[in-house]
Amino acid sequence: MAMNPNKIVVLSGAGVSADSGINTFRAADGLWESHRVEDVASPEGFAANHELVLRFYNERRRQIQQAKPNAAHMAIASLESHFEVVVITQNIDDLHERGGSSNVLHVHGEITKARSVYDDVTVFNIGYEDINLGDTCELGGQLRPHIVWFGEAVEHIDTALDHISDAGKVLVVGTSLNVFPVAGLVRYAHPNAEKVINALDLEAPPANYEYLQGKAAKVVPSLVQRWIAQ
Ligand code: NAD
Repeated sequence: MAMNPNKIVVLSGAGVSADSGINTFRAADGLWESHRVEDVASPEGFAANHELVLRFYNERRRQIQQAKPNAAHMAIASLESHFEVVVITQNIDDLHERGGSSNVLHVHGEITKARSVYDDVTVFNIGYEDINLGDTCELGGQLRPHIVWFGEAVEHIDTALDHISDAGKVLVVGTSLNVFPVAGLVRYAHPNAEKVINALDLEAPPANYEYLQGKAAKVVPSLVQRWIAQ
């Protein structure tokens, strides 16, 4: 596939929002905001305790509503005045959009949407409203967060793959690359693309990526300046 030198793909994870005060996932011990991830991010967890899972995401939604995009989100958005930019994010928050990015693919779903337990295409925009037990679709199916849980199909993965394959520059930011299939995308970047990864503590950055260690709110704006000045 031909490479488009004017196109940038940003693949982001929880770390890009850490500087906005939203905790990452595996940071300490596999817990997400003090819950075992299996309890709050799997269909089995939801089946076992609807109320707990709805409450967990209602809390996340309120927290995200109060958070503000940080300098990394804004710098990524500012690339749009110089490049064609596609943001592929594992994040369920909306901080890329609120930071000004206009082309964002949410591969793991969105906290501001709900869907019916009956299928994964009956999706509703709920903004920052809670989802409560007894909130249903027209057919009576309980609403649940529009979030991709472990074992569920990732969204937009083929589109994401197409985008990363021909981008001239790729920035991977704030992801431990532990969650597949999204983590596998980094290997599909064009061989001649300029590839950069930013995180706090990656043990083995992917081959052929320049590793910029540090906080995204500091590292990403200076990378963006470098790319704009090139
Ligand atoms: P992860 O928690 O597995 O890894 C976070 C990565 O970010 C680590 O590599 C860490 O070094 C890096 N990091 C932490 N703070 C950083 C900072 N200030 N600057 C730069 N890098 C920083 O995250 P993941 O790979 O995205 O996987 C977690 C999954 O959990 C995602 O799929 C997502 O759906 C979900 N999640 C989302 C949010 C959110 O929407 N903000 C928050 C927590 C979890």
